[in-house]
Amino acid sequence: MTEVKELKVEDIKKQADEIRCPVQRSLFYIKEFLAGPMCGRCLPCSLGSYEARIRLENIVEGRGNESDLVAIKRIARDMLEGSMCKKGKDTARFILEWMEKDAFEDHIHGRCHDLECKAFIEYFIIPEKCTICGLCKDVCKFGAIHGEKKKPFMSGYLPFEIRQKRCTKCGECIKVCPEGAIIIIEAVSKRPVAVEQVEDRLDSAEALK
Ligand code: SF4
Ligand code: SF4
Ligand code: SF4
Repeated sequence: MTEVKELKVEDIKKQADEIRCPVQRSLFYIKEFLAGPMCGRCLPCSLGSYEARIRLENIVEGRGNESDLVAIKRIARDMLEGSMCKKGKDTARFILEWMEKDAFEDHIHGRCHDLECKAFIEYFIIPEKCTICGLCKDVCKFGAIHGEKKKPFMSGYLPFEIRQKRCTKCGECIKVCPEGAIIIIEAVSKRPVAVEQVEDRLDSAEALK
């Protein structure tokens, strides 16, 4: 049987610190913490960290609400008080420290200022810039782009549109649009954000998963 190597909390923390977004950082930390062998000697840690992971996933995936925040804080405080070893107490301390930032509240209201959470951005086609060439639709593997490619000498075509529910935010369409008509916007405010900045951050956040 393959033995699961137990990482030290300091090592997990060091890796987690590479992630800018405090919510993503907490989720990464908890996942790594749970990936190691869990001794299960005390409840706040063994049960609480599973629940914390589910609550943190809700938040980074855009389904979070105030009750998730309250529950994560309660779990971390219980772990800090009731954990029987340093590992559990340190975990609680890190989560509480990261929760001091406004980022957790902001996520509940649809914002990730660090642009590392896919749930809070959208890919968007600027209608005025779209020449209806269809290249983006050809490259989208998820059927997320709606529109009919323009035929020469015919009129009545509408600009292409992205169906947000199908879009996985893979970024392939931006690469092929010859008009620069596809941009990334913050979902809640519809404010454009720098494409390079988002892609770099999403890539580094993905790499750590
Ligand atoms: S706090 Fe320590 S002793 Fe308690 S379950 Fe977690 S790892 Fe085990
Ligand atoms: S690739 Fe660009 S210009 Fe062509 S249909 Fe898509 S958005 Fe419009
Ligand atoms: S980001 Fe990816 S999934 Fe979304 S519309 Fe563009 S190609 Fe399709």
